Amino acid sequence: MRPFQYQRAHSIGDAAAIAAGSEAMLIAGGTNLLDMMKLQVATPAQLGDIGRIGLDGIQDLAGGGLRIGALATNTATAVHPRVRTDYPVLARAILAGATQQLRNKATNGGNLCQRTRCYYFMNIDQPCNKRDPGSGCGAIGGVNKLHAVLGTSDQCIATYPGDMAVALTALGAKVVIATKGGAERTVPVGDFHCLPGDTPWRDNVLERGEIILAVTLPPPVAATQLYRKVRERSSYAFALVSIAAVIAFDGGTFARADLAFGGLAHKPWHDPRISDLLVGQAPSPALFDQVADLLLEGAEGHGDNDFKIPLARRTLHAVLAEAVEKAA
Ligand code: SF4
Repeated sequence: MRPFQYQRAHSIGDAAAIAAGSEAMLIAGGTNLLDMMKLQVATPAQLGDIGRIGLDGIQDLAGGGLRIGALATNTATAVHPRVRTDYPVLARAILAGATQQLRNKATNGGNLCQRTRCYYFMNIDQPCNKRDPGSGCGAIGGVNKLHAVLGTSDQCIATYPGDMAVALTALGAKVVIATKGGAERTVPVGDFHCLPGDTPWRDNVLERGEIILAVTLPPPVAATQLYRKVRERSSYAFALVSIAAVIAFDGGTFARADLAFGGLAHKPWHDPRISDLLVGQAPSPALFDQVADLLLEGAEGHGDNDFKIPLARRTLHAVLAEAVEKAA
């Protein structure tokens, strides 16, 4: 680990001032950042501890929604009565991630900002355009079982590793951000993370000096909520494919079908055409095939991860069939 200057932030303003520094990083739970610092993947000169600036509340919003503080832990969020009752897909997604010890420390803001676990990104002896722009991508033509099949670029094929944001995307949640000037801006979770394109080092839309304040959830809807995560072992493993689904039926046809996908891309994948295709249609294997065709249009494997394309198709069928079964 490289030497760094530690500074405790006592307010949101303090945190924003530290975050504005060109060699500064913010730490809360530290469950991702400390690993990266030990491996010298992250080498901040200044570390701003935001663990005691508040932002850990979970409050009802007027109109029925919920505001979840950026510094609320993953555990506190997953066990919150309103989350368990009104947004069970969020509770299930959080509990599908990491381990209990990590969830006790990890914060929601940190979860959104966690970085890819691409093996080459996490090893400073390997080429990686995300960590070291212009050095190349070790995963293209290398070991890439965990890597993306949608939305990749010729510079990076990494996946976003989280579960929570996949559920938040399906729920239509928003990220509330404090801007450098002290104002607030709001970004749908589905637009918060970036695709790699020509700027693979950029994970999300946060600008330097901005910090996440909270995530807001819209009022709950009457719908079946499902989170299915396919992984190599039953705990403490990243998704090969995951699906968060908020699905409702009316008279035997889909009335609502909000789906988001993890493990497939550099961000939680959301394709509004899927909802457009499903709503108003009666469920059938042929329809599910059409949905899978739409989802996987343009999907490209890179060798080790070719299996993700048929796996995503099968998982999508299973989730839609489960929603139909639960509605019967
Ligand atoms: Fe780096 Fe992305 Fe390539 Fe992984 S996939 S080595 S993160 S550029």
